[in-house]
Amino acid sequence: MEDRRDFSGAHAGTKAIWGGEDSYLLQRATQVPVVHSVAFGYRDLDEWYEVALGSRTGHIYGRNTNPTVAVLEDKVRILEGAEAATSFATGMAAISGTLFALLAPGDRVVSIKDTYGGTNKIFLEFLPKFNIAVALCDTSDFAEIEAEIAKGCKVVYLETPTNPTLKVVDIERLSRAAHKQGAVVVVDNTFATPINQHPLELGADLVVHSATKFLGGHADALGGILCGGQELVAEVYHFREINGATLHPEAAYLILRGLKTLGLRIKQQNQSALRIARFLEGHSEVEQVFYPGLESHRHHDVAVRQMEGFGGVLSFSLKGGFDAVRHMLPRLSFAHLAANLGSVETVAGPPRTTSHVELSEEERLAMGIPESLIRYSVGIEETEDLIADLDGALQGAAQERKDRRSAASL
Ligand SMILES: *Cc1c(COP(=O)(O)O)cnc(C)c1O
Repeated sequence: MEDRRDFSGAHAGTKAIWGGEDSYLLQRATQVPVVHSVAFGYRDLDEWYEVALGSRTGHIYGRNTNPTVAVLEDKVRILEGAEAATSFATGMAAISGTLFALLAPGDRVVSIKDTYGGTNKIFLEFLPKFNIAVALCDTSDFAEIEAEIAKGCKVVYLETPTNPTLKVVDIERLSRAAHKQGAVVVVDNTFATPINQHPLELGADLVVHSATKFLGGHADALGGILCGGQELVAEVYHFREINGATLHPEAAYLILRGLKTLGLRIKQQNQSALRIARFLEGHSEVEQVFYPGLESHRHHDVAVRQMEGFGGVLSFSLKGGFDAVRHMLPRLSFAHLAANLGSVETVAGPPRTTSHVELSEEERLAMGIPESLIRYSVGIEETEDLIADLDGALQGAAQERKDRRSAASL
């Protein structure tokens, strides 16, 4: 069934609630059903044939499409303002599927050094095996990225803001450079979400999400989504239906449910993260704070231009090196110490033991990741409670280290 609602002029938070909801409501249910059926039966063989060919809407087999999953794809498609969307078992399946579907031996891809750890592995470990050339540029040096694009490439792959130092990449400027070469621009919009940033409006061709993070928002389901023009999405979908990295309908339902509160969550997380970033910037135990909403951020101007909010993730380094991190993090009451982000609960961790654990200290420093860096994904707790929690942990850790030093010098 076509969505009968008119979303023109509606805000993202409203689209997150109503987008895609009109299809597949059974028995007057107001909520989307979880359809577990792997196969869909047809007694009319002509109808079956038409659905199989794609000339008629419907479902054949669960690896290809599923009604519950289709509602999720439609909702995110509406949120991103895209023509088409398709989904994947995880964010990494979406990213690797997109790259493998679009690239062939002899092609060249231009990207940045600060992509998500798994994406970086695809660039450095897997694509080269298929004779695909990869140029990874300094994330903050837009002129260098433009120069690499100008050498010719099939795909330009961007991510903004980045993990873990929240660098910002100019989507509009680099999309322009890419399109001069006829390249396809892919943007990982996981950190920003469709509440804060619309890469397609800025010139990108495809937007990819780890739905595991902010879209689902509850850290209880893995998923990935790709949005963009009909033809490109169909090309990637074709790879996925054969490759088989299909999103499970149960996970799709959990993400759909999480999406209903996307607008509320992101508004709260934007506000909290900015206040916390400002608080940390003025704290005596903190060395540096990385957040696109701060005036001190290298590309704050670009962030202001291309983002409506600065997102729920920030990072900061401590004055006392990794020893300070070791003492501070376990003192937090309101944070999971885990390798995740984008959840309703605050999640904190050092990139040294989470996202960038496979790198050496030298490699991390070369990437501009201080050894005492903490990534802090702000949940939806009251901002004052999070600030008090951070302050207590910072003061407590500083006191403990001071006490130990004086004990050692006795
Ligand atoms: C987590 C994450 C991914 C990978 O998503 P999974 O669902 O864990 O496979 C990709 N990009 C970014 C920015 C992420 O944070």
